[in-house]
Amino acid sequence: MLKKILLILILCMVVILSGCGKKQKDEPKDLLDTVKARGKIIVGVKTDTKPFGFLDKDGNNIGYDIDIAKKIAYMIFGNENQIEFVPVTPSNRIMKLSSGAVDILVATMSVTSQRLQLIDFSSTYHIAGQAIMVRKGSPVTSLKELNKKKVIIVYGSTSEKNLRLAVPEAIVIGYKTYPEAYNALKAGKAEAIVADDTILLRFAIDDPSVEILSKRYSMEHYAVAFRKGPKSERLLERVNFMIETMVRSGEISRMQEQWGIK
Ligand code: GLU
Repeated sequence: MLKKILLILILCMVVILSGCGKKQKDEPKDLLDTVKARGKIIVGVKTDTKPFGFLDKDGNNIGYDIDIAKKIAYMIFGNENQIEFVPVTPSNRIMKLSSGAVDILVATMSVTSQRLQLIDFSSTYHIAGQAIMVRKGSPVTSLKELNKKKVIIVYGSTSEKNLRLAVPEAIVIGYKTYPEAYNALKAGKAEAIVADDTILLRFAIDDPSVEILSKRYSMEHYAVAFRKGPKSERLLERVNFMIETMVRSGEISRMQEQWGIK
């Protein structure tokens, strides 16, 4: 009898233990472990948004966001080059993140309550504000004056949502990228662009025929985006620690100065 009970107990233990092992094997690893095992982090970045994420003349990714992404790679591997950049746009970046095409996004992305339902964000690494850019000499002086006028936005940006809410009768003309939006303004296709000031600034610096109006209509907290859930937690905590250290040491400030966004 005792032998039988013992045998049953052993059998139960074997079943339980093999079950546990299987669960561990099948469960996808947490993000930090996955990235370490792969030997590189895959980061979604802009390739057309100066000075955050763009390409130099040799096709290398450069910019303020790119430097933040490289710091993350350095923190993980001790080597900023263990990184792969994947181009994203405002309208496809959440899909690229959620589908697993990229590990994280460093892509001029603002924290919003709506986005927080889909993804997780790090601490803020830059603050911008929504602004209006017009052709020099334009009679437009405020957002309200854009009512019933043609206004350019970039699809998927916070400006698209804010404009539709604040000026519901504006005639919204959307583009996928900021250079396309800027070219459309230059070509007279609309009265204004509404977008983040630090993105618009680069066009205005290089082109005296456009100007940015002085009022700001929002606070845009740029942060690193992660897939929602516990698997992202360890990497997210490390990125937060990194950003907070860079803010306290003044390094973030120096980087902002270097890229002309301070
Ligand atoms: N920061 C804004 C956003 O997250 C605008 C910049 C962008 O479109 O990437 O939507």
